[in-house]
Amino acid sequence: RPDVFTFGETMVALRGSGPLKLGGTMRVSVAGAESNVAIGLARLGHDVRWAGAVGEDEAGQLVLRTLRAEGVEVSGAATDPDAPTGLLLFEPRLPEVTRVHYYRAGSAGSRLAADTVGRAFHAAPPRVLHLTGITPALSPAARSAALRALRLAREHGSLVCLDVNFRARLWTAGEAAAVLREWMPFVDVLIASDDELPLCLPEDGDGPDGTAAAAGAGPAGPAPDSSGSSDSLASPDSLASQARALLDLGVGEVVVKLGAAGATAFTCGGSLHRPARAVRAVDAVGAGDAFVAGYLSALLDGEGPAGCLERAVTTGAFAVASPGDWEGAPTRAELGMLGAPPGTVVR
Ligand code: ATP
Repeated sequence: RPDVFTFGETMVALRGSGPLKLGGTMRVSVAGAESNVAIGLARLGHDVRWAGAVGEDEAGQLVLRTLRAEGVEVSGAATDPDAPTGLLLFEPRLPEVTRVHYYRAGSAGSRLAADTVGRAFHAAPPRVLHLTGITPALSPAARSAALRALRLAREHGSLVCLDVNFRARLWTAGEAAAVLREWMPFVDVLIASDDELPLCLPEDGDGPDGTAAAAGAGPAGPAPDSSGSSDSLASPDSLASQARALLDLGVGEVVVKLGAAGATAFTCGGSLHRPARAVRAVDAVGAGDAFVAGYLSALLDGEGPAGCLERAVTTGAFAVASPGDWEGAPTRAELGMLGAPPGTVVR
């Protein structure tokens, strides 16, 4: 069995060095939450498969070639002759603030078909299925593809990991909650930012302080592209009660990403917090995906929540300390580099 199967939209990413409207040069790469996780896992030595759809164009070739070069198996991916590969532009505005512009409406990736995902899953049922809450927001077809994967995972005994990754540009909090709540019975490992948990809870499932209801997120839901950082909405108590409510629904582990404050994992056995690893932050984009790769890598190695969190905060820190979404992802041998004193030269 392959270690991990994942799918979703991967786009060509152009990264500038200042305000976009001033022009200048841009660096060409690829980006997609699920493929970022796939690359992170492949760097750590895991057998990973990715099935998404790209256009029949050079941008699509760049996506597939990059994934192949990173050791991600893409034979299950589809090429759509009737739609282009999506595009996103990264505009670094301040050292800690990046604006992202998407050109993905109607893209090949957003038209991903359930049959593509079903075929790729059947070809080699994985130990772990990883998906994100971005895919169901892309189109009804992509939503069906995700549901097909969830059903196949249950049928074949694959562990299901879902990263909520709420994207306010793609759908409303209400629309997201309607889908994510239905998915909860399929999910073994739920990964979310602290303001995303209410999207997964039943509408009337209020905790002791009433914050566990989906309405707790407020009409607008979580902040756009929430980073789970210091302006967090959820107090530790309400976070714990929301996580408990999810565990009661049958989710095996609830892992909450807290940005520079680290992460907390909740299981039936209790909760465990790990602070973030101290690094000089260069580019926070992709930290969440890198975190997921580290968490799943340790889980596949048979580690418990402490070992999973440890590797996750380490891979998350690598992403924050390196430019690009996935370029700085560590190999297994590099994991130990993070604690090295300044000025260390590795010969
Ligand atoms: P993104 O959507 O940008 O990928 P996210 O909101 O999904 O990010 P975060 O909570 O920002 O995810 O980050 C994930 C993990 O990365 C954190 O739990 C933490 O371990 C690590 N991390 C994030 N920011 C920092 C930082 N400034 N320093 C060190 N580690 C960090």
